[in-house]
Order: sequence, then C-alpha cells, then structure tokens
Amino acid sequence: MAPSASAASGEVAVVGVTKRFGETTAVKDLSLTIPHGSYCCLLGPSGCGKTTILRMIAGHEKPTSGDIRIGGQSVLGLPQIERGTAMMFQSYALFPHRSVLDNVAFALKMRGASTADRHAKARELLTKVQLEKFADRLPAQLSGGQQQRVALARALITNPRVLLLDEPLSALDEYLRLRMRGELRRVQKELGITFVHVTHTQLEAIAVADTVVVMAQGHIEQAASARDIFVAPRNAYVARFVGGQNVLSGSVESVMNGVAAVAGKNGVRYAIPVGELRPMRGSPLWGSIRRDRVAIEKVAPGAKPTTGLNAVVGEVHTLENQGSYVKVTLDLADSEEFVAHVADENFFAHPLDIGERVVARWSASDVKLLEDGP
Ligand code: ATP
Repeated sequence: MAPSASAASGEVAVVGVTKRFGETTAVKDLSLTIPHGSYCCLLGPSGCGKTTILRMIAGHEKPTSGDIRIGGQSVLGLPQIERGTAMMFQSYALFPHRSVLDNVAFALKMRGASTADRHAKARELLTKVQLEKFADRLPAQLSGGQQQRVALARALITNPRVLLLDEPLSALDEYLRLRMRGELRRVQKELGITFVHVTHTQLEAIAVADTVVVMAQGHIEQAASARDIFVAPRNAYVARFVGGQNVLSGSVESVMNGVAAVAGKNGVRYAIPVGELRPMRGSPLWGSIRRDRVAIEKVAPGAKPTTGLNAVVGEVHTLENQGSYVKVTLDLADSEEFVAHVADENFFAHPLDIGERVVARWSASDVKLLEDGP
C-alpha cells in the first residue's frame, strides 16, 4: 500500500508540467513521482530542462501548466520558504568573513532562532558531514571538498524534506568529485530525506541515485533504477547517452524461437531477442550489447574470419587503458564505431595493435531489445 501523504512526506510529484520561456518549451507535459526518502538524479545533456524542473520544485519558477506536489499537496501557491525544500548550488559560495559555524547557521538566523539553538543545530550538522573540528575556521581556510560539505550542511539546516542539488559537484576536481558523491549518498541515506540531484554526468548519476531520470528536450526518455538504466536502456538514446553499450540496428529477416535475425549494413547480421513480439519481415529493429560483454579475437593476416550472427569484423581504431579494462574502439566496414571493454588481464595476455584486424563476438542472450532507434 502506498504511504499516505503527510505534511512531512518528501514525496515529490511533477504532474503534467509544461514550462515555456517565450518561444522555448523547456519542459513539455512531464510527469514524475519521486518517492519520499529516495535519491533521484535528473540526467541529460545541456538544455534538456533539468534545472528548470528543479527551480519549479523550489519555487524559483512557476510552471506554465501542470502541478508540483510535495507530500501529496500542491505547492504552487506556497512561497519558497514554506515548501520544505532547500537548494544546494553549483557554486557553493560561502560568506567569506563568517566562520564555518555561522555559515551553516545562517538560514536559522534569518528565521529568528536564538544563537544557542542555531549553533547547536549547526554543530550537529557539521558532525554529520565530519567537519565538527572546523567550526571556527573561515571558508578560505578549508579545501574545496570541505567547503562543499559546509555548503551541504548549510542547505540542510532548515530540516528540508527535499534537498535540491544543481550540479553540486561540478566545481570539484575529479578526485574530490568521486569522494563527495559517496558522501552525498551516505548523508542522504542517514537523513532519509528526498534528494533531487541534477547532473549531466552519467557515472555520477549511476553512482549516487536510486532512480535515474534520463531526459531529452524537456521530456523523459527513461526513469528507472540506476542499474536498469545501465544494463537495460529502453531505447537507443538512453543506450548512447548513458554509455557502455553498442547499438545494433537493421531490418528483420526472420524470427525464430523468440530471436530475430536482423540484417545490418554491409552484410553484417545480428540476433536480437524479441520475446513474444512478432516483428514483420523488413521492419527496423534495434538492440544493445554491453561493451564489457564483447570478446575480441585476432584475425591472422590473410585469414577469412567466420562471423555468423553475433560478430562483426573490424580494425582497431583506438586503444585506451582505463586501469581495470582497455577500451578498444573498432572501425567497422560500414564506418560505424563499435566499442569493446576488454578486462586488463585478457588484454595484456594477447595485446592488440592499432590497425589490427579483429572479430568482435558476443552472445545473443546478452543482447537487449530496444524500443526505438537513433
Ligand atoms: P544545463 O545543464 O546547461 O544547465 P538544463 O538541462 O538544466 O541545462 P535548463 O536550464 O532547464 O536546461 O533549460 C532548458 C531550456 O530552457 C534551455 O533551452 C534554456 O535556454 C531555456 N531557459 C531556461 N531558463 C530560461 C529563462 N529564464 N529564460 C529563457 N529561456 C530559459
């Protein structure tokens, strides 16, 4: 049974929301429910409307039509301060001449809390982000990562039921970004409040979120668990945007035992599991295969490799060592790109050279049917 909505619930519902700025439709009839106490990431390329959604939840923008509900109640008529939301921004700009403690306590001062009360609450939050020892420092005396944690504590001081985070990690270097995303996730689970986090970085979304919402041009392409977004993208857009997949496309030749034989370009043929579907001969069909499920075999000079349904022949175009695996990019005959992630021990047991001819093979059972193509 769904929990009943209460004033304290941090369930966020975006209900049929459209937002226009003059001629631009930033968000188009979009609906989304984010369960109370969950971590949701809005993921998409620049300009797809992520920030606009966040700003409408916060009350910085009003929808052109549709409703925004928190805890089951419309918040459209409520001023920002009464919505129970707080925002953590891209640039975490702290007050430079105030101590860390006063920075964190600031919003409570604005709300008229006594010095003792607000300092007690600020110390509690500094402990939560493991900065209790730094309460008396000035922001400039902290590292970037520590400043970011102060910004998090500051956003949490009003006990929001929903924390909105707009590209919260983009000002940090790679090392701190990776550490801080684990920290965000830990704090969210500890507090049990709803986090809505906007990012255009695929791995960031997958790393922190319970639910990833992949957006394109003001609408949702797929909303699913972080794992499903990665292993079972709904369509070619999500497969390509989230990455880690090759998209297979062609037209149906035949269907047998729930598997379609599909003719791609230049004589390449794919097997795509279709389950109960009976796609018509000649109709277009798309599948995806994870890069780490593709095996690479060398082709001896002059040899003619056997390929069959689940293999392509290509030339090694680039090799990038990623530590635990090597990213091998192939040029196929039809000039499409195909990528395999080869585990480091396999790669270094049989190293490849750029320009070498290889066969990439995979198992039909690893191919996922996509609902639509590029
Ligand atoms: P980014 O990652 O670059 O911040 P985004 O996905 O968050 O992008 P939004 O900022 O939500 O995208 O913008 C969506 C669209 O709405 C864009 O085309 C943008 O130019 C437009 N837009 C956003 N705010 C305004 C505004 N105040 N006035 C006019 N157009 C706007």
